[in-house]
Amino acid sequence: MTISRAERLTGYNIEVVGIGSGCYAATAYSGLDGEVFLRRSARTKKQALDLLVAAAYRSHCDLAFKKHKGRCAICSRELRTGRWETDHIVKRSQGGTHHVSNLRPVCSGDARSGCGFHRRRHGG
Ligand SMILES: [Zn+2]
Repeated sequence: MTISRAERLTGYNIEVVGIGSGCYAATAYSGLDGEVFLRRSARTKKQALDLLVAAAYRSHCDLAFKKHKGRCAICSRELRTGRWETDHIVKRSQGGTHHVSNLRPVCSGDARSGCGFHRRRHGG
């Protein structure tokens, strides 16, 4: 994963630098004020970048959950721990990003509790 791709996915300015002892730190800066949003370090540049993107994604999944007040963005049912997933509004395959503006929480695809409407209409 290149930095520009990671930047496009997360919506943050990202920098990867060597921090000694064969380690690299990947840092995501907020585009608005340049503050550090997240930092992850690893043995390789790629690993540090992958960890950073994964952490940014999780953080934005939580933001999306809060933004929808813990309810499914499609059927409005209350979401239960472990029974919901994050849906990309614009699919990843169509260039959708991991930014909170492109994420929404929906019922899990689990047949017992899932939002069948969601599965049929949006294919997960
Ligand atoms: Zn639902």
